[in-house]
Amino acid sequence: MANKYSILRSCYGYTSFREGQEIIIDNIMNGRDVLAVMPTGAGKSICYQIPAMLLPGITLVVSPLISLMKDQVGALNQNGIRAAYLNSSLTQRQYGLALSNIRRGEYKIIYVAPERLMTDGFLELASGLDISLVAVDEAHCVSQWGHDFRISYTHISDFVAGLSRRPVVAAFTATATKNVKDDVLELLALDHPYEITTGFDRPNLYFGVVQTESRIDYIRKYLSENKGKSGIIYAMTRKNVEKIYSHLLAAGFPITMYHAGLSDNERALAQDDFIRDVKPIIVATNAFGMGIDKPDVEFIIHYNFPLSMESYYQEAGRAGRDGSEADCILLYSAADIHTAKFLIENGVDDAEDLDAESLEAAKKRRYDKLDGMISYCKTTACLRGFILRYFGESPKTEKCEKCSSCRGDYELQDVTDAVRAIRMAIDVTGERYGAMFIADFLHGTDNGRMGAMGFTHERGFGMLESLPVSLIRDVIERMIEEGLLIRSGGQYPVLAISPKLDNYLASGNRMTVKVKKAQKKGKSTKQTPLTLRMSPADEALYERLRKFRRDTAEKRGVPAYVIFTDSTLREIAASHPRDMLSLMRVRGIGEEKAYRYGTAIINIVRAED
Ligand code: ADP
Repeated sequence: MANKYSILRSCYGYTSFREGQEIIIDNIMNGRDVLAVMPTGAGKSICYQIPAMLLPGITLVVSPLISLMKDQVGALNQNGIRAAYLNSSLTQRQYGLALSNIRRGEYKIIYVAPERLMTDGFLELASGLDISLVAVDEAHCVSQWGHDFRISYTHISDFVAGLSRRPVVAAFTATATKNVKDDVLELLALDHPYEITTGFDRPNLYFGVVQTESRIDYIRKYLSENKGKSGIIYAMTRKNVEKIYSHLLAAGFPITMYHAGLSDNERALAQDDFIRDVKPIIVATNAFGMGIDKPDVEFIIHYNFPLSMESYYQEAGRAGRDGSEADCILLYSAADIHTAKFLIENGVDDAEDLDAESLEAAKKRRYDKLDGMISYCKTTACLRGFILRYFGESPKTEKCEKCSSCRGDYELQDVTDAVRAIRMAIDVTGERYGAMFIADFLHGTDNGRMGAMGFTHERGFGMLESLPVSLIRDVIERMIEEGLLIRSGGQYPVLAISPKLDNYLASGNRMTVKVKKAQKKGKSTKQTPLTLRMSPADEALYERLRKFRRDTAEKRGVPAYVIFTDSTLREIAASHPRDMLSLMRVRGIGEEKAYRYGTAIINIVRAED
């Protein structure tokens, strides 16, 4: 008889449950409602899919992400699980066909968009079904406190109440503050649910904060050293996205881009190319990612930092969902602080609904969150520890040994002399210029304008020649933040010296900034752990397997990862399974996958050996 372990093994090809999964499954099987808060990538789907297969009736999965349903259902079908979806993307004919199949009892799992639930057609259908479980994905959408409120979610409880027999209701979300959790409990009318919040740690992710002279050069180098990997590069503005995109495209990388300024078609195409690995690298604003379920993303690089740690962790968390090693690297530039503040001042998007007082409070909350983000960039302590503490957990160890701080990729540099030089430069140029100008002046960049205005002969020009312009800018931003300099508002902000600065220097304070350690000659510049290095032979096999996966995915019209994830292919390439039994020991290969593709894979391995 099938049980949770045999299904985990045979349908998914996994040998053990991850934190929280088993106990959630047990509670659902015992007829108890569940409220589960699990971070992105923790494996929420299995928590309701396995009960769906074990319970006598049908499971409805309510999900707001229409674009995801098709892929999720495709993945289930690939694993030999009969599932269907009902949403607005289906034609009338497809919808009718799905309904009659459902009536005939063809499916165990039905994904449905929340706005469908209360339609007459669906209510009529539901009244004739034996529904054992209603799983609510992205449950925070029910709450106005959440970041993604959907009115249709508030009708879910009415739908459940209208059924002749109440099914178990299980709610899942990745982010829930106390307010959101209370709303989920109340508005979904959960009945004494089993509540669980699993740890926020993602042990397979490497975290890095990098300060570099040229962010674009850093990315180019990273991509060259990590060829064949799939990843997302996030930038704050549309303009940056386009700049990075054209640069990397010209350098020959398989890249696409995504931002709100593109047409619906262009965006759909970019997303599709990325998911199907046609263009495994995407550069995007933070509009990209919600509803992208690509488990084999191997790096997330932030060109600019997001406005809060919540956003950062959600975006970075899109890496390594399949449990493989992945990198989350944030490229820190102090100049971004200015942009972030500008966005907060001008971009409080819910402004129309707020009175002046609430608007100020909202701004303050955003500034507080920004402070958290900036502290993350600057801390010299363990980054993982910082993240966990931020989300209210205590890290198990002081050092994780898997972040740029623990790896000691950085050192502190005393920049007090630069602080003095900056003071002098602002003074001699008459407090009339902005940060960029002062940095250029001190570095001695003669961009024509500087010479034409006679500044190249001024005292102090080129005084900090040995420091990169970006570092001088960083010091200026630090000084502004600490109130030692004052930046005026307006279109062309200029710097002035704050009275605090002279006190600061007179009291013997010293300023330090975090800089990347100088590279030792002959040593690899790579600072990230990354996945196992493959031998050339394994690499060749891996490429053959990827090609097979691409062709198969194309033929079946599903994304490549639905066939096999990268980590599964990598394990095959490393272990060279030559028979079915050894193939089935590979993580991610269950009976159905072995049955469908086993012979082809083994033939590829044998041909290569
Ligand atoms: P979430 O919805 O929580 O973000 P998913 O349900 O999409 O996460 O799962 C993320 C990835 O982890 C998927 O590729 C899934 O197959 C994989 N996964 C889930 N449970 C396990 C497990 N017990 N062992 C190994 N991989 C798992």
